[in-house]
Amino acid sequence: MKRTFSVRLFPTREQKEILRELQLRCAKLWNKANYILRQHFFKTGQIIPYEKLFHLVKNSEEYKSLPSDIAQALLKKLSESWNSFSKLKKLQERGNLPKHIKKVSPPKYYKDREENKTLPMNVIPILNPRSYSLGDFFFSFAIPKDLKEKYSVKKRLTILATYKIPYENFKLTRAEIVRKNGKWYVHVSAQVKETKKTTKRKNYASIDLGIRNLIVLAIYDEERKQIRVYQFKSKELWKEFKYWNRRIANYQSKLVKSGHKGSSTKLRKLYEKRNRRIINAIRSMGNRIVELLKGYEVKEVFIGDLTGIRNEKDYGKKVNKLLHNFWVRRKIEQILKDKLEEAGIGLVPIPENNTSKVCFNCKEGVKRPRQHFVVCEKCGKVHSDTNGAINILLKGLKREGLEWEKIREVHLIWKFKRTNKWVFKYLRVYKKDKDKLLVRGRVNNPPVRVALVSYSPKSSSAPSVRGG
Ligand SMILES: [Zn+2]
Repeated sequence: MKRTFSVRLFPTREQKEILRELQLRCAKLWNKANYILRQHFFKTGQIIPYEKLFHLVKNSEEYKSLPSDIAQALLKKLSESWNSFSKLKKLQERGNLPKHIKKVSPPKYYKDREENKTLPMNVIPILNPRSYSLGDFFFSFAIPKDLKEKYSVKKRLTILATYKIPYENFKLTRAEIVRKNGKWYVHVSAQVKETKKTTKRKNYASIDLGIRNLIVLAIYDEERKQIRVYQFKSKELWKEFKYWNRRIANYQSKLVKSGHKGSSTKLRKLYEKRNRRIINAIRSMGNRIVELLKGYEVKEVFIGDLTGIRNEKDYGKKVNKLLHNFWVRRKIEQILKDKLEEAGIGLVPIPENNTSKVCFNCKEGVKRPRQHFVVCEKCGKVHSDTNGAINILLKGLKREGLEWEKIREVHLIWKFKRTNKWVFKYLRVYKKDKDKLLVRGRVNNPPVRVALVSYSPKSSSAPSVRGG
């Protein structure tokens, strides 16, 4: 599997000068090659493929001013962005353009039009690990001859660096030096050897997006014939998201009042901070999920469509506000998939037709008088997110011929202000009755609050339900 690691660089003043010069040379080569591509495209409607482009520019001054692994990586990057432009254009022609994309235009130049000046690129790509290396507290890479002479660099440019790679078995592939908010990083891609799947695991689980939840996890425990549902409530996280949006909006209106034009560093930092907070919460949720799956010896997870297309269709406008955000949904999908893959847990996509519209118990259609629960005339009330997740789980279990008897629904909430952790909120139990096939548990009762303790599958002193 492919992973990307961030390496923080600490260049000296001279090294920064070299990096800036390289960024500028990258921009010059990009502009040169992009000019050829654009001219050809506007004349013929065709996109020049990478190999041909390479031959067109390989003898140019711009190409020769860079080490070949940087120049080639740059041309590849340009080719990739032309290819994605062409894909989007095709989607647009068919009217299938994703909602979040508003404009489709060919790759731009790095140029200040008013001053007719080349603007440095933000990225210095490196194609192959043969021209860079990572060592104990350093990152080094090949730079052009003239810069080596100018700055008396003997072999490669060696920059102080810190990083942590959480894998033992990996092979480095391409790298990209980037500058972000005045700090320098290298994003290193690596091919990681997968963890072997253990045969000992025996249980199954499902993962789904919720209405009131960021994610709902349903785990089937064969030994106890029990399904445990973990709801990761999105309410608090939504509050935090809104808090940052408010700060961003306030700052924006301040900028407008003061007549500020162009980009603002503070504004960008606010956005970044907001996004980082949300990503932390999602990552932490991912860790918790993997922990639970390992604890219950889950070998396979049935997964619904996390892009949320189905949810929006079924739930209308009332779907979880945080999940309305395309970026948030994509992050959830990406982080969960990565973490499960790393843990060696299998992922089985499940088609989700009707998973939110029928009762998981009797498969009859359900009514949804309120957003967060569904009512089945035969079986009673159940949390709508629990119903959806269990329906996905049961689709998978049916294949294995497995039966459930009891459901425990654990609610976890993100406490950002105090702990920055997902903490246990309360528990609900549903029972399958022998004769009547009834789902019991007082869902309509206000949930019982239990002291905020962390709850783990292995602990014997699991909080009990009172009054509910
Ligand atoms: Zn029913």
